[in-house]
Formats: sequence, structure tokens, C-alpha cells
Amino acid sequence: MSPIQQILQRRAAEDSALLLHIASEKPSASDLAAWGRITLKRARRMLWVVKVLGRALLTKLTSRHLSYDEIDIIASGLNKLTGTDTDRVKLVDDFCEQAAKVLPHELEQHVKQTVATLTAHRNHPRLAFNKTADANNHLYFQGAGPAELVAAVETELVATANALRTDNMKFSEAMFHALVRKVLHPSGKTTDPFLPYRNCYVIVLDPTLRYHADGKVMTTTGALVDVKDLVNQELQPYGYAVAYALSTGGDYEHVGTYGVQRFFNQHQRFVGSLEHPICAYPGCDRPAKTCQAHHVQAAALGGPTLLSNYAPLCAVHNGQNDDDPSKPPKNGRIEFDPATRVPGLRRFPGDPLRYNLNPVTIKGIRRYLAYLRGEGYAASFRD
Ligand SMILES: [Zn+2]
Repeated sequence: MSPIQQILQRRAAEDSALLLHIASEKPSASDLAAWGRITLKRARRMLWVVKVLGRALLTKLTSRHLSYDEIDIIASGLNKLTGTDTDRVKLVDDFCEQAAKVLPHELEQHVKQTVATLTAHRNHPRLAFNKTADANNHLYFQGAGPAELVAAVETELVATANALRTDNMKFSEAMFHALVRKVLHPSGKTTDPFLPYRNCYVIVLDPTLRYHADGKVMTTTGALVDVKDLVNQELQPYGYAVAYALSTGGDYEHVGTYGVQRFFNQHQRFVGSLEHPICAYPGCDRPAKTCQAHHVQAAALGGPTLLSNYAPLCAVHNGQNDDDPSKPPKNGRIEFDPATRVPGLRRFPGDPLRYNLNPVTIKGIRRYLAYLRGEGYAASFRD
């Protein structure tokens, strides 16, 4: 027998003896780790194996000269049978018999199959969600069910995921978005998935307005106005909404302060910079990307934070703009040409608009659209 064989056999025997001693003396995991110079994880695992098997079964296993790994495999199997009326002693006899004939990794397969057979009847399908989010505010969920059903669900999601997937998106990420879409937007409509969880501000519109259709209301003058514009207008002068609600104690309490969208979001700024590639002020060449998002009708005066009210202005020209047209003019103000929606400078009330004639502005979508319609194109360049 080679020295390696001798050492390994001696170790296997000693491992068995060690487990029996642990069963009777019940040392702490930290003592085990320190004395054996092993990791805490390994020490805890040894204690766990001893606990799962109990003294009687452990004695049986060690008397059959099983190694620590084999004993661990059998303990894992038995642990999964907790709560079943399996005859543990008979099962351990079967495992020992098997262990004498095969190698540990084959024993592991045998134990797993046996456990799967014995627990088949109680394998209900399940889906569970964690309660606590991780550091990235992600919640975990997992489940299991009949293979053919899970495969059918997967096939459905894969089709949607492939349609949703962009170039630099991992497939697993696309699968998640597919699940969200299938569950939350079965009709195919894509709305804000977080909407049901957001706080909201309820606005009752002026009683003179009549709800018309498709998000429009009719004013007393017969004009159709977008509800979205109206809501934004209601909120803009305030900037934020403070909510009070009745508490369980029966008194009104402050429950939250919510910011109103006064600033153009990234997407609006992106589309806005395509429509108007540089600062709207005549002669300025600041690219829209580095400009401020200017409300042509001032937010404080009810101007909505919508693309139809957006113009890029560099910090200097935004600072100079006369925001309130009711005050005496100082530097002039940016306004839209009503036909083309191209922004220009009106130096004094009644003056014609002056446009930024920088050649780059021709690349802007607004000017191109005016050109397509064959109207106002020349006007937008009239100085
Ligand atoms: Zn400028």
C-alpha cells in the first residue's frame, strides 16, 4: 500500500471518530475551526451533519467505515426528507449498502434520485418572492413547477425577449423585461410600470371644462386642450405639492412633499436637441447638448414642461431672457414662430422674430419639417 493510500485511509477512519466525538462533546464552531485550522464554514457544516444524523445513525455510518464526504452526502439526503414518514434507519442501510459498491459521486446521484422519488408527491408548484430588496433595490423571486408548463412559459417569454432585446442588452435582462410586459401590460400597451406604486396628486379640473375624448377637454371657447397641458399648468406655478392625510389617530398629518416636473427630462432634452441643435439666440453657436432647457412660456407663469414649450438656450442667453412678457422689456425674449415652431428672439414687443442663422440650425428637425410643409421655411431665415 502506498503512503498516499495509507494516509487517506487513516484520515477517513479519523474523520469518523471525530464526528462521533463531536456528537458527544458538542464543541462550538469557532473552537472546531481554531483547533482543526479549518474554515468556520467547514466547522459549521460538520456540526450540521452531526445534528441532522443524530447519534444513533452516525454510529451506524461510522461502523460501516464511511468517509466524511459520504456521511455528508447521506445527511443532505436525509435532511430533505424531514417531515416525511420515511423509515430513516432502513434508508441509511440502503445508502450504506450502495456506498460499499460505488464511489462517493455515484452515491450522491443515488441519494438524490432516492430523495426525489420519495418527495415527488409533495412537490407542489411554487413561486415565492423575497421581502427585502438588496443593495441595488432588486427583489429576488424564484419558483418551480411541472417541466412542461415552465418550458411553455419560457418559450412565451423568449419570443417577447427577442423582440425587446437591444444590441447591448444581456438576454437575461431582456427576459426580465419580457416578464414585466407579459404580466403588467398584457394588452401590449406600455405605460410606466411603476405607476401603481407612485404617490399622486389629484386635480379636479375647472367645472367650465368638458371632457371630450382621447385626453382632450373642451373649453368654453370651444378649443380642445390636452388634459396633460392643463395638469402641468395647474402645478407649474407651485413647483411641488405637499400632501396632508388623515392619520389613524384621526388628525390630519403631513404625509409627504412631492416635486413637480419643472425640468425637462433626459428624453425631452434629447428630442429637443434634435429639433433645435444649437442655442436659439441669434448668432450663438452653443450646441444644444450643453445648453439649458428653456421654457419658452416660463414655468412660473404656467408654461408646461413639454417639448412644445422647449428651446435650448445657453446659460448666458437663458440668463438674459425676459421671462415675464408683462414686465418692461430689457433684453428681449425667445418666442416661437407660430407656423414653424422655430424659436427666435423678439427684441422688443411688436418686433419680428430674429432667428439663429448659424448653418447648423438647418439640420434641426423643426426647420426641416417647415421645409417639408413648404411654409415658413423662408420666414425662419428672415432676419
Ligand atoms: Zn446662446
